[in-house]
Amino acid sequence: MNALAAELRGILQGPVLVGELLGRHTTWRIGGPAELFVAPRSEQELLAVLHLLAQVGMPWMALGTGSNLLVRDGGYRGAIIHMGALQTMEFRDDGTARVGGGLPVMRLVRQAVRRGLAGIEDLAGIPATVGGAVVMNAGAGEQAMAGVLQGAFLAGAEGMEYWPAARLDLRYRASAVPADRIVAAAILRFSFADAEMLESSVQHRLSARRKAQGVGKPNAGSVFKNPPGQQAWRLIDESGMRGRSVGGAQVSEKHANFIVNRGGARAADVLSLIGEIQETVRGRTGIMLEPEVQVIGEA
Ligand SMILES: Cc1cc2nc3c(=O)[nH]c(=O)nc-3n(C[C@H](O)[C@H](O)[C@H](O)COP(=O)(O)OP(=O)(O)OC[C@H]3O[C@@H](n4cnc5c(N)ncnc54)[C@H](O)[C@@H]3O)c2cc1C
Repeated sequence: MNALAAELRGILQGPVLVGELLGRHTTWRIGGPAELFVAPRSEQELLAVLHLLAQVGMPWMALGTGSNLLVRDGGYRGAIIHMGALQTMEFRDDGTARVGGGLPVMRLVRQAVRRGLAGIEDLAGIPATVGGAVVMNAGAGEQAMAGVLQGAFLAGAEGMEYWPAARLDLRYRASAVPADRIVAAAILRFSFADAEMLESSVQHRLSARRKAQGVGKPNAGSVFKNPPGQQAWRLIDESGMRGRSVGGAQVSEKHANFIVNRGGARAADVLSLIGEIQETVRGRTGIMLEPEVQVIGEA
């Protein structure tokens, strides 16, 4: 491992860490160590990392803000590629933009709104990166990434490839981005609108979010997807699970589809609570809730 880390340090300006605790990089503040943790500074560095990892046959996965991830307590066997440094933003006069996969969605929303560009203002407050938001087709209110996405540059072991939106096939909290590709950058197309109106809509969203989701403790947003025609939080609430806890993990008193880390929660606590919620809701309604959060790593 140390030889590979040394080789990566030779080609990267960004950090290369061995055994970095992933709980430091997830919004739940939960997660064991990554065998390797690399943070490329540019698309070229990203391609070089992917090429080298393919040569040595090491598994890897991309990490954005870790706002939709539950990393098990045993950590991740392989390389975590942290995208946080790829934050480029190039706006063009025709209402399109090329933005880096590691750009925080909130920064993008602010820049778009300032330019009078509409299409993602409802996403204000989602603590995601552009790459994570494309892969999950993050959305809120009437909007989702699918509404503005023209295409994406996907990095892989063989190089960079442009995929148009039709091929990326964004659906409810899902897309066709393959597991062996990383969204290095996205091309977005906005519509034009009044900047002040957009700004007031952002403020409205942020305040609604604070009211509904200000749970005050580390979390990963909605844990379960909404089943067709149903709201997950309501099903959980009506099953009497609000406030239920296992170890350091607790179903939020404020938002029943959030699980919070009350302090010292392990992934095992969260997983056991997830299982309990699924069984209780299924027993009462016959509906099997499907997790929205992604679970990775070793028990
Ligand atoms: C308080 C809170 C509120 C939230 N509200 C919402 C909401 O309103 N709507 C909503 O849709 N979601 C919401 N979320 C969930 C989360 O923000 C989204 O799912 C988001 O898309 C995850 O982005 P990320 O960058 O954090 O991805 P991560 O959690 O880091 O990763 C998630 C998955 O995406 C992959 N990935 C990340 N970056 C890339 C990349 N560049 N290329 C390829 N794969 C990549 C990872 O490998 C992983 O499989 C919320 C979360 C929190 C904590």
